[in-house]
Amino acid sequence: MKNHAVLGLAIMGLALTVGCVGEPGTTEAIGERADEFSTSPGEPNHEEITTTALAFLNPAVLNALVAGDVSTDVEFALLNSAHFDDCNFTGGAALVAANQAAAVQALNPSNPLPAADAQAMLAFSRSLHGVQDFYAHTNWIELGGDVLVSQSLTAFPALTPYSTIPSSGFVIVQGNPPPQTALYRDDDASYPKYAIVTVRRKKVTAHGLVSGTVDYEPGDFCPTAASMTHAELNKDKSTIPGRTAQHFAAKALATRQTRHEWCRFNQLAHDAWGDAGTARLATWVADPSAAPDCITE
Ligand SMILES: [Zn+2]
Repeated sequence: MKNHAVLGLAIMGLALTVGCVGEPGTTEAIGERADEFSTSPGEPNHEEITTTALAFLNPAVLNALVAGDVSTDVEFALLNSAHFDDCNFTGGAALVAANQAAAVQALNPSNPLPAADAQAMLAFSRSLHGVQDFYAHTNWIELGGDVLVSQSLTAFPALTPYSTIPSSGFVIVQGNPPPQTALYRDDDASYPKYAIVTVRRKKVTAHGLVSGTVDYEPGDFCPTAASMTHAELNKDKSTIPGRTAQHFAAKALATRQTRHEWCRFNQLAHDAWGDAGTARLATWVADPSAAPDCITE
């Protein structure tokens, strides 16, 4: 409950700040932002995803990760890369990688505890928020994506405009298409068909990955031919009419990706600090038997 109060105060602060700018409707929009992927007081989806995926951690660690994850919607309400909005895939992927790099740096064995652990938990939780929003805010699900965007154990991959994501074969739509490339979308179709974007390069077609636009977040990288608003595309809640199945599909992939990010974090910590890195993370774990087997998951 304490977190709710802090969140509420932070939202009020943001509303007041933005209200001074005098843009009608912005305050309401920021209020909605706090509910995205329905953090409390709506459906606690970010909380459930993190708690389910990382149930093997100590309760205190899990609480810190959940608090940091949820607070991202308030503290970074205007940053599209923090939520994979506005087709900013490059920025979103870079932010996940940067937050995880910061978490690894915080685990430097020479850093004093418990401050170092707290810093690592906060940075890692920010990265979890990003990968969770990815599935709710993009058309990954509508395109039929049933695999993770990344299953590597190296740094979270760069998502370069108009490159192909190896796991799904989807092409990242960000900015205007390069020469000899065209985008198609049936604006008049009903959901989920209208969310299907096709990229055609010469005579080869592929699915195009986009995310919804958020007008109060600066920077929109969605090309007009493939552009949809956040309202048209998001699967943040189970109660959005006609999108319940897509919401649960997004939530399931977000949970799997979150669990995978624990493995990536362990690998990156080992790369940086050797056994001291993984030993530090092992102190976060309450039930090792329930932790993922990071070799195979
Ligand atoms: Zn978000």
